[in-house]
Amino acid sequence: DIKIENNITFSELVLSDDIMKAIDEIGYIRPSPIQLKAIPLGISGQDLIAQAKSGTGKTAVFGIIAIEHILKEAKLYQNQNNSRKSLLSNQDLLNLDDETYAEIMSGVPRKQMVLIISPTREIAIQITQVINQLAKYAKRIKAESFIGGSREADDVKKLIGTQIVVGTPGRIKSLIENLELRTENIKMLILDEADKLLDPSFSKVINWIYTTLPKEKQTLAFSATYPESLLNLLVTYMKNPVQIRLCSDTPSLEGIKQYYQIVGTTSNNGINTSLSAQSYDIFRKKVNSCLILLQEVSFYQAIIFCNHKSRAEELSRTLTKEGWPAYYISGDQTQKDRSQTMQALKNFQLRVLVSTDLISRGIDIERVNLVINLDVPKDYETYFHRIGRTGRFGTYGVAISYLSESEKSFISDLIELYDVQISQRKDHDIIPEE
Ligand code: ADP
Ligand code: MG
Repeated sequence: DIKIENNITFSELVLSDDIMKAIDEIGYIRPSPIQLKAIPLGISGQDLIAQAKSGTGKTAVFGIIAIEHILKEAKLYQNQNNSRKSLLSNQDLLNLDDETYAEIMSGVPRKQMVLIISPTREIAIQITQVINQLAKYAKRIKAESFIGGSREADDVKKLIGTQIVVGTPGRIKSLIENLELRTENIKMLILDEADKLLDPSFSKVINWIYTTLPKEKQTLAFSATYPESLLNLLVTYMKNPVQIRLCSDTPSLEGIKQYYQIVGTTSNNGINTSLSAQSYDIFRKKVNSCLILLQEVSFYQAIIFCNHKSRAEELSRTLTKEGWPAYYISGDQTQKDRSQTMQALKNFQLRVLVSTDLISRGIDIERVNLVINLDVPKDYETYFHRIGRTGRFGTYGVAISYLSESEKSFISDLIELYDVQISQRKDHDIIPEE
């Protein structure tokens, strides 16, 4: 969990008044360890590779660094601007084109200065919301998200007056390619969930985007996990980066109680059942056990992870039929549906969400205190990201993983490798609250 053992407050980080005012209003009192370490270094212009457990406030780290960067640029701009303005008569000012006029009058450059990339649309939307909250009093500083599944024509309008561009790799590449997003003023690149962005599914696009950016810039990377192999690649994007790694021991939070349950296979009485029939049998057993769990354990909101969208869909139907109105979310849905589902979860109109790994990273829902792995995650990183959807910022959460006999080694290896505590439980075993 995040232990804040010092008495240091945000005021000691010497942030701009406008940001401090927003932080007070949001209600943050003390900076988390990663915030304390990374914010001053980031503001000083240093390239950073930051690693800290999920739910420890990394978004605010780069959000604050980005806003401070623009405020600094705005100051330089205002100095030049004042002399420029004094040379112009009122009539000259009125003859300027709208964009130049708006920029001169606002005193803040109306160009894209910071580029933030995230692996999913949902994370991009969330980052944008957090930054705009932090920038509430830094007038005329604005973040917008640019993601797939929306009309690119609308993006062109959204770019006007936006300094902080938050987006997913494909859409950002497309905007740059079509000369809609100009990159010459982008002096800060931020990679959230950096290890995911550099895995083979994204790395080509990220590299392409990188080559279109100015050479002189600051690059910052954030994640809860970095496989060693990716660190070497990441460093090639940076200038003498400082590495701040605050989770060398285990990537999971102490506030999350972790359990696993073994689901037995039924003997098939000598009848040859196909592999897919067996795996379906195991799936249904896990579902039944999961229904017992939801009945017996008290929780605010739960996220249940499945590996495939067809299973996620079926599970959400079963849950709904059994009295747990549930939605499922996966990458094949329209962005409108995806956004509505996330909003319902955030507004507490939805208690149970079934998901593929689409939301295993980055998503922050305060009241999620139960995470269920109905299917075994594809790797250990995914395990830690999934369970990190609970226990956000020092709160208490429970994570339960279902395994078949043949999947047992996933958990035993995990325990050995990371020295985490994961206890076995059976149906009806009591889970202590806090
Ligand atoms: P991460 O990216 O590290 O997984 P997030 O940036 O999503 O974590 O933040 C997790 C939660 O912690 C959010 O709900 C956020 O509002 C909250 N939070 C961040 N910083 C602070 C702070 N200094 N004090 C209290 N809550 C905070
Ligand atoms: Mg995050």
